[in-house]
Amino acid sequence: MAYNREDKMDSMDQGDDKDSRRSPSFHRKKGCRFCLDREFVMDYKDVRMMQSFISEHGKITPRRISGNCADHQRKLTSAVKRARNLALVGYVSSGHFGH
Ligand SMILES: [Zn+2]
Repeated sequence: MAYNREDKMDSMDQGDDKDSRRSPSFHRKKGCRFCLDREFVMDYKDVRMMQSFISEHGKITPRRISGNCADHQRKLTSAVKRARNLALVGYVSSGHFGH
């Protein structure tokens, strides 16, 4: 009686796009930018650089996305915090950087 369930599986064969799930990279740069490029210095005063690691909501880009190594990610985090203290980078977008 409970066999009927298996039959239903057949109608699922249109779901073969499992592979298309992993979309081609978008922001998927492998490797830490700071490690790869020695010229790329972490500087909390460099607002533009900092903003490339901060979402529009003022959140720090997770390592998974930024591709930073643990060491630099940690440094980045503290740099961002320092920058926030100096109000160079807002918690929430405000003033010049926001909309
Ligand atoms: Zn690194």
